Amino acid sequence: MRTERNRKSIPTDHSLLTAVLSVLAVALLALAVLLRVDSRFVRFYMYDNAEISVPYGELYVDPGVRAVSVGRLTGESPLELPVSVSGTVNTTVPGDYTITYRSSTMFRAYETERVVHVTDQTAPVIRLVQREGYRCSWLDGYEEEGYTAEDNVDGDLSALVQVENRGEEWLYTVTDAAGNTGSALRRIPYAFGRPELRLLGEETLSVPASYTYEDPGATALDGEGRDLSQYIHCDGEVIPTVPGEYELCYWLENARGDRVEAIRHVTVEPLKNPDVIDPEGKIIYLSFDDGPGPYTDRLLDILERYNVKASFFVTGLEPDYADCIGRAFREGHSIGAHSASHDYKAIYANEEAFFEDLNAVQELIHAQTGEYTALCRFPGGSSNTVSRFNRGIMSRLTQRVEEMGLCYFDWNVSSGDAGGTTDSDQVYWNIVEGCAAQRVSLVLQHDNKDFSVDAVEKVIQWGLLNGYAFAPLDSDSPGMHHRIAN
Ligand code: ZN
Repeated sequence: MRTERNRKSIPTDHSLLTAVLSVLAVALLALAVLLRVDSRFVRFYMYDNAEISVPYGELYVDPGVRAVSVGRLTGESPLELPVSVSGTVNTTVPGDYTITYRSSTMFRAYETERVVHVTDQTAPVIRLVQREGYRCSWLDGYEEEGYTAEDNVDGDLSALVQVENRGEEWLYTVTDAAGNTGSALRRIPYAFGRPELRLLGEETLSVPASYTYEDPGATALDGEGRDLSQYIHCDGEVIPTVPGEYELCYWLENARGDRVEAIRHVTVEPLKNPDVIDPEGKIIYLSFDDGPGPYTDRLLDILERYNVKASFFVTGLEPDYADCIGRAFREGHSIGAHSASHDYKAIYANEEAFFEDLNAVQELIHAQTGEYTALCRFPGGSSNTVSRFNRGIMSRLTQRVEEMGLCYFDWNVSSGDAGGTTDSDQVYWNIVEGCAAQRVSLVLQHDNKDFSVDAVEKVIQWGLLNGYAFAPLDSDSPGMHHRIAN
């Protein structure tokens, strides 16, 4: 046993090899584990950006990459790895191109990419045509002389050019497919100013009423001094026979809607009856019977406006309006006696009754005017037949009245307002037709009829426009006596 105890175990060559191998195996295993844990990979460092834009047509030189091997534990190797590059960039064709970089480490391949955008970055070029000797006027506006647009990629873009007017400048723009906008500005260096529209004659005109009115008109010159008068329009109208205020607007407008205008104010003044009447001229005596009444004041206002003097053969039928007799007298109209009662049966019953009535109206006139009148008119006129119930009375009365120094008046123009019509226009036409037929007219109207008073202003306007003068009756005026019928 002892022997056995003392027996030492001595390594043999065989066991040594085994030990060495074992150590080697462990070392290899450790290396494998180390490599595994270190896990090397390729890291790319890109020169410039991963996305690059290159203008169309320019030379493209790829900036390249640097590739290095990197371990997690051992870090980055200082040695640069070889890199293969694939992919091309054609800068004559806009688009996106991909460049691929490849490298490997530890038998494993790695790659990265770069995107290259080949883009059109050049704006189209607009060229403006200038026609030699071309002039433009305010009226016609600018007439396009022409232009072209050329793009390096898209070619002819003339059809896409947008033209915008900015007053006296025109802006041309065009955008190519890549969104590049080219522009050009044209200044209209001539004759684009607003024309001057000038009234001929005064800005405000005052003319007497007449049958014609000829406005002096207006002229217009554009910035080049070209006469545009023939293109002037005129709004408004002057009615020369109707007194009033009128406005004439002269205007000129071009195709762009720019407008210049000038306004003239024209006043048509009512004609005035002359203060002095030519006895050889055309004369109208307006006479009004049976008033005063509710329309007499209005009538006096009309007559006053035209400086026309008329004659009133008054009654006492409307005492409330008796003061119109005083007004008419003070304003230069003639006052004649007509009748206090205008009652045919009473006044033509006998001479005494007639003169009693005549005296009554004379007192009324005297009370209003301070005078008795030498003028009178028989109710119904001297030719009346309403008095035939008393045979011959008109023959006697007309003679008696003249013996007393009174002048009696009939008429040679009847307005028809005593029964013929109640239409104001008809009254007007009756008077106008009657007066037009003779040099001297004595017109019979009734101022207690409003439609008859309504016709007076037009009658006066017609008369003055046609050269008539209006006069009040006096003792020397023609009596226009009718043939006595009773
Ligand atoms: Zn009468």
